[in-house]
Amino acid sequence: CGIVGYIGDRNSQTILLDGLKKLEYRGYDSAGVAVFTSNGLEVKKAKGRLAVLESRLQEDPLNGSVGIGHTRWATHGKPSDVNSHPHTDNAMKFSVVHNGIIENYLSLKEELIGKGHRFVSETDTEVISHLIAELYDGDIVRTVQKAVQRLRGAYALGVITEYEPDKLVAVRQASPLIIGVGQGENFIGSDIPAVLAYTRDIYILNDGEMAVLTRDDVELMTLEGDIISRELFYVDWDI
Ligand code: GLU
Repeated sequence: CGIVGYIGDRNSQTILLDGLKKLEYRGYDSAGVAVFTSNGLEVKKAKGRLAVLESRLQEDPLNGSVGIGHTRWATHGKPSDVNSHPHTDNAMKFSVVHNGIIENYLSLKEELIGKGHRFVSETDTEVISHLIAELYDGDIVRTVQKAVQRLRGAYALGVITEYEPDKLVAVRQASPLIIGVGQGENFIGSDIPAVLAYTRDIYILNDGEMAVLTRDDVELMTLEGDIISRELFYVDWDI
């Protein structure tokens, strides 16, 4: 029910947890983060309050400066550790956080199982990480564009891949998503409060749009890949 993402030079775990706390008002039953560490893509997720995840991360931190985070409001699959987001592919190369519902997930799941993918959760979301892994052609932006063409329903997404660790891809289709623009760092969030402690310069995505974030740049485009130029929105209010 809440998405955050960070790409920059700071410790992402702190920023992701902080952003998730600001989204608590949206309600949730579990939470998780995925971060690129020196061991590659690592995921930690837990059923329950954010404090459960936070204490696990305190015991065993994920050190890295790129990551995505999620608070879940279960729609498909009960609240549990394994059903929590982020979800990954079997090789743990791609990680996805999702708000919304994938209506055609059952047929996609069947198709992907037929191609050798093993599913570990009961969620609709897990089809997205496997689908992206299946379609990956060396370009995560193009691959996400191809993948979302196959999805029916509502989705705000944050996507990262170990193959292109200097990118964070965000998609909005019928679930809210904003981009926070910083200096040498950029953010995504379901809502402005998630990033407001770090920046007041915001892009608001519309349905059918995506953003590609690097540390130093944010590019907005349609889901078909047409570049969008938009003015930054300056937030002059406080939470
Ligand atoms: N449908 C997804 C799930 O149940 C995402 C729910 C959400 O938006 O938090 O895992």
